[in-house]
Amino acid sequence: MVGGKFNPTFVGEVGLMSGEEKTTGGCLCGAVRYEAIGIPMQVAHCHCEKCRRSTGAAFATGVCFPVETVTWTQEEPMPYKSSDSFARLFCSHCGSSVAQHNLSTRTMWPLVGTLDHPESVAPECHMFTKEQITWVKLNDGLPRHQTFPPRPAME
Ligand SMILES: [Zn+2]
Ligand SMILES: [Zn+2]
Repeated sequence: MVGGKFNPTFVGEVGLMSGEEKTTGGCLCGAVRYEAIGIPMQVAHCHCEKCRRSTGAAFATGVCFPVETVTWTQEEPMPYKSSDSFARLFCSHCGSSVAQHNLSTRTMWPLVGTLDHPESVAPECHMFTKEQITWVKLNDGLPRHQTFPPRPAME
């Protein structure tokens, strides 16, 4: 097949081939499921207080996609707007934090803990390290940003 990168064999797999990469995940009870097509724009750990409180975790790791590449394949999550341009999406049945929606950059950030294959993505940096819990000790060597990292190259 000339010029066709798409190989149906790889649909549903993650991190194997460029081109039609698909990332899937969902909440704890399984009511909310999503799929994202394409390679993530960014994978980042966020240490801000809002991520901490909304996920209940010491920090949150998000995987960034253009919002139009993410599809809810079952129920849609409930949004909680934590600011004018930012919504935190959770399952109305089990309460799992599933994703974050940045309305100003039109990006969707599924939370890495909800991925079916979290090991398929590679975190690139830490952000909002000025709010990092002091007992969180990470020696992964990744870049650290006091607040936001530089914009993804795609923007
Ligand atoms: Zn659920
Ligand atoms: Zn955050």
